[in-house]
Amino acid sequence: MSKLGLYVHIPFCRKKCLYCDFSSYALAEHLFDAYTTALCQQIADQGGMLCKPPVDTVYIGGGTPSVLPVPLLDKVLTSLTMNFTIQPGAEISMEANPGTVTKEQLIAIKAMGINRLSFGVQSFNDKLLACLGRIHRTPDSLAAIESAYNVGFTNISIDLMYGLPGQTSDGFAQELEQAVALNTSHISVYGLKLEAGTPLATAYDQGVLVLPDEIEEESMYDRMTDFLPNHGLMRYEISNFARPGSECRHNLKYWQYQPYLGLGCAAHSFLQGERTSQVTGIEDYIEAIATGSSSVAMKEQLTKNESMAEYIFLALRTVEGMGVAAFNQYFATDFFSQFGEVWNNLNRQGLVATDTKQIWLTERGMKFGNIVFRSFLPD
Ligand code: SF4
Repeated sequence: MSKLGLYVHIPFCRKKCLYCDFSSYALAEHLFDAYTTALCQQIADQGGMLCKPPVDTVYIGGGTPSVLPVPLLDKVLTSLTMNFTIQPGAEISMEANPGTVTKEQLIAIKAMGINRLSFGVQSFNDKLLACLGRIHRTPDSLAAIESAYNVGFTNISIDLMYGLPGQTSDGFAQELEQAVALNTSHISVYGLKLEAGTPLATAYDQGVLVLPDEIEEESMYDRMTDFLPNHGLMRYEISNFARPGSECRHNLKYWQYQPYLGLGCAAHSFLQGERTSQVTGIEDYIEAIATGSSSVAMKEQLTKNESMAEYIFLALRTVEGMGVAAFNQYFATDFFSQFGEVWNNLNRQGLVATDTKQIWLTERGMKFGNIVFRSFLPD
């Protein structure tokens, strides 16, 4: 049985970015203590209920975990260690905003056992950072990453974005060069998605925000998929590139259909085929935990057909793709009998490939993954 991954949600940010629809709240410092207390309570409850299970990955995400004061982060880490059996060599990641970290803080979190940092750099162009409403600028990113190296972190990831308002393919190519020059072990690159209700989406709807056209955006995508592997960062998932051995083990669990437990408001879990999520509001979460009522907002047991579709499209996000025998065993079925027609159709379009043992997305399939993923969904 796979060991458990833990996702811990810290829902606080200094300022809300203009494109963000994550569960994160600005100006909520007054809730730091109460939230940490509730989170540690949930950690103790879940760890006890699951009998202190073995855990080999922990991912502290947000929000911006690096805005939580060090003593409170320490409390969370101590609680995790006391209530779960964190394995030697476990990957313990934390997201950090380059505008919120200090050298002292990095020294402290390293001492707590965090061994992987993921910096939300997003861009090396200060105009684009301002347009996104980010609180940091390029010198902050460079200083934060340098500090992280200086205090001894070796497993460092940065997030970048493309398809930003005013961004050009040539400009993005320069940003890729700057990213690679930092020599981090991992880079994630995401296209901007305008989420309904965010200020950026509203500005776009009102015609005051212009995005790169499709040709320009596709050119950025192509440059990313060419440039990063040519500089030692191999693509292992649609949006993720790593030096060999530095793939994010926690995120691989999501794509490999392995169990994970989400702790904190808005956190999602996948345990024994059931998906659950916690209430999103910080105060609702604190109250539910404090009063001993349920903090679960959604519980979903997928049908076999939904489950098969999900298993396939999560696995196909990775460059390795999906092992056919593992799928057949998991669902007691035969992949090619079950999905033969869909498969042949996708294969004719050059979107998927197989050697009969493994199936995977072609380069073209990676680019147009959504067409593939939709095809496997039940009617
Ligand atoms: S730092 Fe991240 S989580 Fe916080 S507002 Fe910006 S995008 Fe959202």
